[in-house]
Amino acid sequence: MSGSSGRLQAIEAVTTYRPISEPLSFSKLSATEFFGTNVFNKTVMKARLPKPVYKSLMKTIDTGSILDPSVADAVAAAMKDWAIEKGATHYAHVFYPLTGFTAEKHDSFLSPDSDGGALAEFSGKTLTQGEPDASSFPNGGIRNTFEARGYTMWDVTSPAYILENPNGTTLCIPTAFVSWTGEALDKKTPLLRSMQALNTHAQRILKLFGHSSVDTVVSYAGAEQEYFLIDRHFFFSRPDLLGTGRTLFGALSPKGQEFEDHYFGAIPERVLAFMLDSERELFKLGIPAKTRHNEVAPGQFELAPVFENGNLATDHQQMTMVMLKRVAEKYGMVCLLHEKPFAGINGSGKHVNYSLGNATQGNLLDPGDTPHANAQFLVFCAAVIRMVHRWSGLLRAVVATASNDHRLGANEAPPAIISVFLGDQLSDIFDQVTKGGAKSTKKKETLQVGVDSLPKIPKDAGDRNRTSPFAFTGNRFEFRAPGSGMSIAGPMVAMNTIMAESLDFIATKLEKAVGDDPSKLNGAIQKVLEEILAEHGSIVFNGNGYSEEWHKEAAKRGLPNLPSCVEALPLLGSKEATELFSKYGVLNERELHSRMEVYIEQYCLVVGLEARTAIEMAKTIIFPAAIRYQSELALTCANLKAIGYVFDTDTLDKVTGLVKELQDGIVKLEAMLAEHGGGHSKLDHAKHLCKEVLPAMAAVRKTADTLEGIVADDLWPLATYQEMLFIM
Ligand code: ADP
Ligand code: MG
Repeated sequence: MSGSSGRLQAIEAVTTYRPISEPLSFSKLSATEFFGTNVFNKTVMKARLPKPVYKSLMKTIDTGSILDPSVADAVAAAMKDWAIEKGATHYAHVFYPLTGFTAEKHDSFLSPDSDGGALAEFSGKTLTQGEPDASSFPNGGIRNTFEARGYTMWDVTSPAYILENPNGTTLCIPTAFVSWTGEALDKKTPLLRSMQALNTHAQRILKLFGHSSVDTVVSYAGAEQEYFLIDRHFFFSRPDLLGTGRTLFGALSPKGQEFEDHYFGAIPERVLAFMLDSERELFKLGIPAKTRHNEVAPGQFELAPVFENGNLATDHQQMTMVMLKRVAEKYGMVCLLHEKPFAGINGSGKHVNYSLGNATQGNLLDPGDTPHANAQFLVFCAAVIRMVHRWSGLLRAVVATASNDHRLGANEAPPAIISVFLGDQLSDIFDQVTKGGAKSTKKKETLQVGVDSLPKIPKDAGDRNRTSPFAFTGNRFEFRAPGSGMSIAGPMVAMNTIMAESLDFIATKLEKAVGDDPSKLNGAIQKVLEEILAEHGSIVFNGNGYSEEWHKEAAKRGLPNLPSCVEALPLLGSKEATELFSKYGVLNERELHSRMEVYIEQYCLVVGLEARTAIEMAKTIIFPAAIRYQSELALTCANLKAIGYVFDTDTLDKVTGLVKELQDGIVKLEAMLAEHGGGHSKLDHAKHLCKEVLPAMAAVRKTADTLEGIVADDLWPLATYQEMLFIM
C-alpha cells in the first residue's frame, strides 16, 4: 500500500481499531501461578527425573562440571513426556548465529514404526546434538558450502522451554552451534567460554581474601530494552521501514519530544494491553519482566527484566525480542527494535546492567555501607576501571553496527567515547586511595523536602549520570552503548573476557606480593589500586558526556573516539584483541577474524540495502509526488497568466529547484553506490559506503524532506512522522 490514499486508509484503520482479543484477566490466573509454566526448570526436573540423574544434572548446571552422557537418555525421555503433555508436537534446537537473530530447526517427535504407525521418540542423542547446515549461516569463511557440517549442542545451563503458537507448540532446547572442526559459529559458545574464564580468575581473587571452595562466580546481566511501537498500517505503507527498519525519509513533525510529555507518561490503552500480554507470555517462559514505562520519544517504550545469570539473561533477551515483535502484531502494531527508526528524535538502546557474583558471596560489585573499608569491593571495582580503560576500543567495537552508528555519538545516546562514571562517593574513595589509602566514606544524607508528612528517605550515594556509556549505578555497571536490536551476547562476551583479564592481572600481582603471608595482603592491595588508578584513572569522567568540552578533554586524555563501524570493527582483528581472546580460551584467531569479517559484511549489506531502497523511493514515490505538485503550480500560473493576472512564481521556482536537486542527488547516489571504493577488501567497501554513500543518501533525504514541507499534503505519499508517532 502506498500513495496518499494509503495514508488515509492507514489513519482510518488506526482510528477504527478494535482490540482483537478479550482483555486479559489477571484475577482469574495470577502471575505467580503461570510464571515459568512453560519451562523445564529445576522444579519440573526434580519431580520428573530419577534422583541420581537429577543430582548429576544439577552438578553440571551449578558447578559447570562435565555432563555425564549417561543421563541424557533419561532427561530426554522426561523432557519429551512433559512437552507432549503441554501439547508439543515438535522439538527444536535453538541457536544464535552471528546474524544476531535466533535460529531454530523444528523436527517432529514422531518416527514411523514397522507396523505403519508412528511413535513419539526423543533420545538422549537427539537432545544433546543436532546437525543444521553450517554453511548457510554467516561464518566469515570458516565453513564453505562443500564442507557444511555443523553441530548444535545442548546447553544444559539454560533450561528447555515450550514455545506456544496458535497452531501447535514446540519444545525448544537452547544450544551452542559449532562447526565440524569445533569452531564457534554462534554467539553462545564464546559466551559460555567467557563465563568460565571469568570464574577462574574471580576465584583467585576470592581465594586471596580467604574464601575457598565457593560457588562458581558468574556474571549477571539485566538488559533494559527500548523499542518503538507504531501501527502496522503505517509500517506497511513505508518501503523503508518494511525493508530496512528505519525511515530513510521523513521531515520532523512540528511536535517532537521537546515537551518532555511522553517519558513516564500515562501509557495508551492499546499499548498497555500489548505490554500486559507480552509480559504474560514472558512470564510463562520464566522471563522476569519487571519494569515498563514510556520512554523519552513519542511512541517509544521500555521493558526491563530482573537481572539473571549472564548466559540465561542473554537467551531470555533474545526470546524477549522475538516475543515483543510477535505480540505487537497481535495488537495491530509493529515493534521497531531498530536503533534509530526516526531521525531527529531519540533512538533506542539496550542498557546492559552488569555485575558478577554467586550465591555464597553475593554481588561482588556491592559496595556495602562503608566501601572504603571493603577492600574486596575496591579490588573488583578497580578491575572494572582498568578493563574499560584498557579495552575501551573493544567495548566500542562490540556494539558497532550500521544501525547503532546513527545512535552513538548523536546528542542523546551515550557518546562514542567510552568512559566510566563512578559518582561522588566512589570517586572520593578512589581519590583517597591515590593519596595513600581510603579512610572514610562520604555519608549518605537524608533527603529533606520540607513537607512533614512526606517520609524521610536516605539519599543514594551518588547521583545518576545519563550521559555516561559505562556508569556505576549502586551495585553494578550499566553499559549503555549496546543497541536495541542487537544480541547482548557480544557485549557480555567482551565484558566477561576483559574482566577476566583484569582480575588475572590483579590476582597475579597480589599472589606474588602476598606469597605465604596473608598479612601482606592489605599493603599489596593499596599498591595495586594506586598503580591501576595512576595508569587507568583517566577513564573516569563524572561530567556531561554530551558536551563539546568532553570531546576535547577526552582527546587530551588519549581516549579513543570511534564514530562509526569502519573505525571500530577493525579493532576486532587487532593483535591485542586476538591475543586477549585466545589467551582466555574465548575465541581463537580464526574465530575472531571470521566474526570481524561477518560484521563488516553485514555493515555493507545494510548500507547497500538502505541506499538501494532510498533510490527507489526517491525515484518512484517522492519524485512523482513532487512533479505532480509542480505541474499543479505550473497550471495555476498558466491560468493566472491567461487572465492577465500579475503574480509571482516563488513556490513554483522553489519546487522546480528542489526537483532538480532531487534528480541530481539521486544520480550522485547511484554513481556512489556503483563504486566499490578503490581497494579490494570488504573493509575498503565499508569505508566507501560510510564516507561516500551515506552522505549522498543524507543529501537526497534533505531535499526530499524539504519537499515534504512544501508539497500539498494530499499529494504527499508517505506516512508522516506526526502520523506514525502520534496516531496510536
Ligand atoms: P534505569 O532505567 O534507572 O537504568 P531500570 O530499573 O529500568 O533502571 O533497570 C535496571 C536494570 O538493572 C534491571 O534490569 C535490573 O534487574 C538490573 N540490575 C539490578 N541489579 C543488578 C545487578 N546487581 N547486576 C546486574 N543487573 C542488575
Ligand atoms: Mg538504564
